[in-house]
Amino acid sequence: MSIFEQYGPRQVINGCGKMTVLGASAVDKDIAEAMGRAAMDYVEIAELLPAAGRVIAKATGAEDGCPTCGASAGIAISTAAVISGTNVDIIENLPHSSGLKNEIILQKGHAVNFGARVTQMMMLGGGKPVEVGCANLVAADNIENAINEKTAALFYIKSHHAVQKGMVSIETMVEIAHRHQLPLIIDAAAEEDLHKYIAMGADLVIYSGGKALEGPTSGFICGTKALCAACRMQYQGIGRPMKTGKESIVGLLTALGKYASRKPNGDLQKQRMHALLKDLEDIEGVHGSIAQDEAGREIYRAKLVIDEAVTGIHAVEIAHKLESGNPSIHTRNYYLAQGEIFVDPRPLLEGQEKIIAEKIKEILREAKGNQSNGRN
Ligand SMILES: *Cc1c(COP(=O)(O)O)cnc(C)c1O
Repeated sequence: MSIFEQYGPRQVINGCGKMTVLGASAVDKDIAEAMGRAAMDYVEIAELLPAAGRVIAKATGAEDGCPTCGASAGIAISTAAVISGTNVDIIENLPHSSGLKNEIILQKGHAVNFGARVTQMMMLGGGKPVEVGCANLVAADNIENAINEKTAALFYIKSHHAVQKGMVSIETMVEIAHRHQLPLIIDAAAEEDLHKYIAMGADLVIYSGGKALEGPTSGFICGTKALCAACRMQYQGIGRPMKTGKESIVGLLTALGKYASRKPNGDLQKQRMHALLKDLEDIEGVHGSIAQDEAGREIYRAKLVIDEAVTGIHAVEIAHKLESGNPSIHTRNYYLAQGEIFVDPRPLLEGQEKIIAEKIKEILREAKGNQSNGRN
């Protein structure tokens, strides 16, 4: 029984991926224990924040860092920081920023909704988003021409949510920003590489703690000393209603400490998905295989191709039945229309691949029964 069930929500078996709507990550025991100890104790937050900055710096190669309650808070706080610096009067008045350098330039194809609008997060921090170019085509000149005496920063989003083609590259954004003595902020919320964007020259880079890092609901900003100090000071201002608690900070730092030594576990993933496929191999109309991640990452998912003519039930209907049961089983459903169901092994707790196989078998048995009844 999951701890959530006593309050009503069904148990979830997550075979989809790291989805914010499913609670992002389930942390491991070390992280959970560290968070528990932090929750049961006290600390000077004014000492914890810069200490966290040092751990973030070490993990990213940046000069400094600032913990946040998520990447979206990271966007708001970074925006506030490039506008206010460490000026307390400005910090205490944000998001009001009229008369100040407050324009944040981003490409139209980057003005996405990741669950909320990236431009709204900027406005929370007092920024005025300036979208340039077209949704599918932006030129370096579009960026350059938008820069004026009100520009506070350039912003780049590295994400599958963004338009991938026709956009100005990070290299060019860095070059333009620094030629105009402006900072470049990169939202790399779900990225796995914690060093890359700092090494490329970004001034602030934003990550989510609950995505690739597999930490608790949290996030962080890394970057230059001056801007990270300005980020931490936002906790006296717009950061206050998005503060991150001591237990989340300790959970985040524990996750960061473990991340560097994390080994790829592709073999274990394959083993678990083979076990799932083995349980389903005798079912007619279901063709199982192991599929590596489209982007070439070390992720090996089970792929089930459902032949509706044989099974009597379409993949869409199978996925719906899996999700509406208790436990509620979430598969990876990007190719459902083509009859393909994927299962992601990474978020599955121990033994849950067995439960998924059993439930799929049950649904297919039932469909088969309905099919033969219909024929008679
Ligand atoms: C998930 C995501 C966010 C929001 O992250 P939270 O940690 O949930 O606040 C922001 N930007 C991008 C690109 C994301 O993928």
